[in-house]
Amino acid sequence: MAEKPQPAHVLYCQVCGLPAEYCEFGPDFEKCKPWLVRNAPDLYPDLIKEANDRDADKAADQLQSTAISGDGGGVGPSSRSGNTAASKPEEVKRLPGGKIKKKEKQEIIIEKIVRNKRKCVTVVKGLELFGVKLSDASKKLGRKFATGASVVKGPTEKEQIDVQGDISYDVVEFITNTWPDVPESAIFFMEDGRKIPAA
Ligand SMILES: [Zn+2]
Repeated sequence: MAEKPQPAHVLYCQVCGLPAEYCEFGPDFEKCKPWLVRNAPDLYPDLIKEANDRDADKAADQLQSTAISGDGGGVGPSSRSGNTAASKPEEVKRLPGGKIKKKEKQEIIIEKIVRNKRKCVTVVKGLELFGVKLSDASKKLGRKFATGASVVKGPTEKEQIDVQGDISYDVVEFITNTWPDVPESAIFFMEDGRKIPAA
């Protein structure tokens, strides 16, 4: 007589077999959810909301992924990394003794090296930081200045381009014309251990 009032008609879940109102305590509430949404929405109003939210999320995800895959056609990794260098403030740290501490940042270093009295080499470093393929750049430099140019490993194992002869006076213009992603402000000459802006 003092029993809890029971609903006259108990709705049993077709998934777990419990009365629908106990599904959330059942073994696999997740599996019950779709059935409950359809057959007992009054018992679980939150589920309806949850399902709607999930659909909204899914739609948003789809939108996002179409936007991403639509960019660039999705063929191969895009190696464009320019654009930001121009706005970065210049920071050159000098160690005691005037040596420049080089940070790994987006810049081109051009250095004229006289290997012996007659032989001069213009070294171009850093083009790869702007997404330029060094083998390609080396060919273009050799053709443009009608000289030998090759990709070699520098003293720090980093690849650089060695161009035979002194091309330092024309090379900046050639670089900025050939690779518009490289701003002139990112190009420096190395002279006697000092870094001198080309711009
Ligand atoms: Zn159930």
